[in-house]
Amino acid sequence: RKYKREMNLRKKCHNELVRLKGNIRVFCRVRPVCRGEHDSAENMVSFDPDDDALLYLSNKGKLMTFELDKVFHPQATQEGVFQEVQSLVTSCIDGFNVCIFAYGQTGSGKTYTMEGVAKDPGINQRALRLLFSEVTEKAPDWDFKITVSMVEIYNETLRNLLGDNQGEKLDIKMNPDGSGQLYVPGLTEFTVQSPEDINRVFELGHMNRATACTNLNEHSSRSHALLIITVAGVNSSTGHRTQGKLNLVDLAGSERIAKSGAEGSRLREAQCINKSLSALGDVINALRSRHSHVPFRNSRLTYLLSDSLSGDSKTLMMVQVSPLVCNMSESVCSLKFAQRVRTIELGNATRRQ
Ligand code: ADP
Repeated sequence: RKYKREMNLRKKCHNELVRLKGNIRVFCRVRPVCRGEHDSAENMVSFDPDDDALLYLSNKGKLMTFELDKVFHPQATQEGVFQEVQSLVTSCIDGFNVCIFAYGQTGSGKTYTMEGVAKDPGINQRALRLLFSEVTEKAPDWDFKITVSMVEIYNETLRNLLGDNQGEKLDIKMNPDGSGQLYVPGLTEFTVQSPEDINRVFELGHMNRATACTNLNEHSSRSHALLIITVAGVNSSTGHRTQGKLNLVDLAGSERIAKSGAEGSRLREAQCINKSLSALGDVINALRSRHSHVPFRNSRLTYLLSDSLSGDSKTLMMVQVSPLVCNMSESVCSLKFAQRVRTIELGNATRRQ
């Protein structure tokens, strides 16, 4: 039974990867109207009963249609969303570099999707648990090691969230071995050896993030949070090696911050967010138009994500949408960006083994 399950999973994974080949996939999740929010949202966002890739927004009397790879209704569960991304997640066991990032304005549900809530975890925890159980099942034929790092980027400063020195600052450097690989000296790489370690990772990350700031909610909407999982394996009989990486990113809020009014530290925050999100947009545009130079180095975020945004990597953007009328213009912006992202080819998907 175990063998059959594995075969089915592999088959599903393979089909998915063929479909994914070379493209950034874009999913959209519309969050529900929360308790206490009074808004006549129902008619503004609508779904196609026959096609789960279409989303309609009625904006100032105009009906706009957006085509994505998949649209999740407000009723979609965390489990349901994860089911749609799990084959992408497990492909890093086969040596793929994978990146899943949540994009959208503050309050659109990015953290809910990636981090989740205590009773109902999001993609981050589910991904790490699934990877751990999958590689455990492969023993003793394969010997796998899963390591986890957690960082946040705030005002273009990188902070280590799994270290002992609560959120110390880090730098990104080019590996001196000439491989062209980047590395972050001092970045904590936590080896996951048991399910309890997984709880420890998230507790520590959360604690370090919270202690480094005064208002966690405000702070997290202005910073990018990255969970970086590396899965490296060696086959016990053939010695064959494989290494894959999964980047799970909860981006800072994409809302356009009013230029007037913001000053001092707020203005600096806004400029940094704009810089990194527009750097992400520039990278995506360069990939789309197949420029030979892709400006990965223009921000810490794109620098850090460069190995999972190029070549043979698999990228999924989860565009988060608020159903509220008052958020409509930001929703339109996010979805327009999402549509641009969807037309990008990253190159040919080749196995890295
Ligand atoms: P963001 O990270 O984009 O700023 P949050 O994830 O914090 O947004 O979501 C804003 C609020 O909406 C939170 O209270 C969150 O719990 C709630 N929320 C978001 N998405 C969902 C969902 N799919 N189901 C239930 N509540 C949600």
